Amino acid sequence: MAIATINPYTGKTEQTFEAHSEEEVERRITQAQNAYESLRSTRFAQRAEWMRAAADLLERDVEELARLITLEMGRPIAGSRAEVFKSAKGLRFYADHAAEFLAPEPLADPATVGASAAGTRYAPIGIVLAVMPWNYPLWQVLRFAGPALMAGNTGLLKHASNVPQSALYLDTLFDRAGFPIGSFHTLLIPAARVEGVLRDPRVKAATLTGSEPAGRSFASIAGSEVKHVVLELGGSDPFVVLPSADLDRATTVAVTARNQNNGQSCIAAKRFIVHTDIYDEFTRLFAAKVAALQVGDPFDETTDVGPIATKSGRDELAEQVADAVEKGAEVLAGGSAPDRDGWFYTPTVLAGVTPEMRLYLEEAFGPVATVYRAESREDALRLANGTTFGLSSSVWTADADEEEWFVDHLDAGAVFVNGMTASHPELPFGGVKDSGVGRELAAAGIREFCNLKTVWKA
Ligand code: NAP
Repeated sequence: MAIATINPYTGKTEQTFEAHSEEEVERRITQAQNAYESLRSTRFAQRAEWMRAAADLLERDVEELARLITLEMGRPIAGSRAEVFKSAKGLRFYADHAAEFLAPEPLADPATVGASAAGTRYAPIGIVLAVMPWNYPLWQVLRFAGPALMAGNTGLLKHASNVPQSALYLDTLFDRAGFPIGSFHTLLIPAARVEGVLRDPRVKAATLTGSEPAGRSFASIAGSEVKHVVLELGGSDPFVVLPSADLDRATTVAVTARNQNNGQSCIAAKRFIVHTDIYDEFTRLFAAKVAALQVGDPFDETTDVGPIATKSGRDELAEQVADAVEKGAEVLAGGSAPDRDGWFYTPTVLAGVTPEMRLYLEEAFGPVATVYRAESREDALRLANGTTFGLSSSVWTADADEEEWFVDHLDAGAVFVNGMTASHPELPFGGVKDSGVGRELAAAGIREFCNLKTVWKA
């Protein structure tokens, strides 16, 4: 894929970028290594000061950044602004908490291991390579960079090829904030050149957020180099609705959970699994609310749903829906691409999706919801867990026992009860099954890229 900003609202190429040469990539890796030698011996308080300066820069640049996000990937502008503020909050969270999360853990009774003192410390490991997607061009990157730099590591970013201007903003952010130059830089390279960087002995660990095939290929290379990886991959999250749920609220939240960011979120609710007693009422309300969404120019403050970020993404979604409809799925809302410029897809609700249809198991990365009828709570759980993914889940019920039963039995990295899944700096984020390995955010996220060093003293 060419490294270029192509406006998804118009389909026009705004700007193209030359990939970095091999010499430039080498220069940046060397710089990251030198920055690591300096950063690793700084104190938490110093890193926190720089991290807060980075957060201040984001907030100062909010309008420029929001415009870039909306231009490059089509997110409605209010959401783009919110992403900037959330990113700043994430950086401040780690500025405030890194020292506590990485505090030494002494053994209470060192004599049991024959020592006068023993325990563990979290040490940095070096350069971490981050391969990131376009769907939250700032937040995905900064939720990695904040903890990585606070731990004393340095980072190299290979961002998605369709968000180069966001990548270039991030290239200078941490230099500007005061970190040793090279602590966090961008490599403008295509996916095909990731392998060379990942195999570089100075790169000690890596993380990829993106699709499952990319994750599998990346992890197999990292595995052959014995390097630790974190993978944040796709999802097809269930949104389970039981008879005691508040249907008006559940359907309003369902619409947001599926369609925010133009439906392109890994943790979007994608499969709506509804108990038979309330199925008709749920689908009626849900389809009506989806049909009422304002689709249009993402720079218009009143737009709910903008274009899909890439033409190939829009075409893929159209093919998935066509396949389901051909095989007998019922269209309750939308169901086609509108006849207009840009890579739009009308927000869609499909019922009667069966295992022969692609949408039954594939992730729909756009505003397409599928609704399933469940005969009982056990049947709802079977449908919810009947996927290769396991990122997050949402369950709607007013029954406390039912809540706990689903929390215990859903095979997912998170369960949100009577609310939609969202990422919070304070809570770990990540999946099970084919949705990934490892965790981001919270204490777990900063510890992923540390050397948990055991210390024993006679
Ligand atoms: P993608 O094609 O996998 O791209 C993601 C990143 O990986 C891009 O930087 C891409 O570079 C790079 N890449 C692609 N193939 C690669 C390979 N073989 N080796 C190394 N790097 C490679 O993903 P996408 O379709 O743009 O993004 C959407 C996917 O990301 C969805 O499945 C979504 O669910 C998932 N996602 C997951 C999370 C999470 O936290 N779990 C968050 C957001 C998105 P190029 O752009 O140059 O190809």
